Amino acid sequence: MLVVMQQGATEEQVQHVIDRLVDLGFDVHRSTGVIHTVLGGVGGRYDFDLAVFEVMEGVKEAHRIVSPYKLASRSFRPEGTVVQVGGVAIGGPEVVVMAGPCSVESREQIERAAEIVARAGAKIIRGGAFRPRSSPYAFQGLGEEGLKMLRAAADAHGLLVVSEVMDHTQIPLVAQWADILQVGARNMQNYNLLRELGRQQKPVLLKRGVSATIEELLLSAEYILTGGNYNVILCERGIRTFETYTRNTLDISAIPVVKKLSHLPIVADPSHGTGRRDKVAPMARAAIAAGGDGLLVEVHPDPERALNEGAQSLFPEQFEELMAQLRLIAPAVGRKL
Ligand code: PEP
Ligand code: MN
Repeated sequence: MLVVMQQGATEEQVQHVIDRLVDLGFDVHRSTGVIHTVLGGVGGRYDFDLAVFEVMEGVKEAHRIVSPYKLASRSFRPEGTVVQVGGVAIGGPEVVVMAGPCSVESREQIERAAEIVARAGAKIIRGGAFRPRSSPYAFQGLGEEGLKMLRAAADAHGLLVVSEVMDHTQIPLVAQWADILQVGARNMQNYNLLRELGRQQKPVLLKRGVSATIEELLLSAEYILTGGNYNVILCERGIRTFETYTRNTLDISAIPVVKKLSHLPIVADPSHGTGRRDKVAPMARAAIAAGGDGLLVEVHPDPERALNEGAQSLFPEQFEELMAQLRLIAPAVGRKL
């Protein structure tokens, strides 16, 4: 914590700031320059509100030195976290691709999807059984039946399963059938859900909220980590900006930013990130080139007849072509596929 006092700040104002820093447990080091007095706070709490200091009389600026999250920060595990799940390592040398339809629609659809993604080299199949739809009239998913179909299709093709859990009461059910529990963008700040996910051991794929900053994403991860579950995979899935040409703006720069700030693996979702099939492969390639640990991609055996998000779902041959391209890109950035 660093507080720079305004030129001419009174001794009383300086002392007031020092007192508040001491209240928060900081050890205060004072440097009196020719123009400014600078107060450095060492130790102290994580949960203080910087703005409280910024608005104090006589304060020019205040800066946080330690991040507001602790367990999610890179300094907690400088070597990085590798999430191990069913023989697949996420965050290690290998880039991991999770692919499949937005939703599980039928036994036949998910079986065909599993065959397509496994043949192309994906390790994990995605598919929602509980769907967070913006409209209450849109297809809401097949629930437990969908999870069973997803599991059977995955097992038949040697794949792992990632599927969304929308609320804490669904955790036992989804955990029974899925290997990785997905928290959707709309639920990134559902703190009851995050706390409950911290109390179980299955890996969690935590998607960035559409209006969430990277710091908020890492604080949401912190909720899971504080419960003792360190198997968290972050996912950049696009944020809402003023641009309307794409459904969201995929923030590729979040990948190197998160890599520096946190030890957690991060994957990108170019499907929700763009909303348009023809933009998915270029952004997928960019995400791997930028150091992403993997991808979450929507692929459908028949995208034009998909019950949802067909426009952003790749045709099987497009997914195969993308995987072939990624096999060339990954080694160029020191990874494997
Ligand atoms: C999904 O993965 O299908 C999904 C609904 O994603 P998001 O939560 O990122 O919108
Ligand atoms: Mn989707």
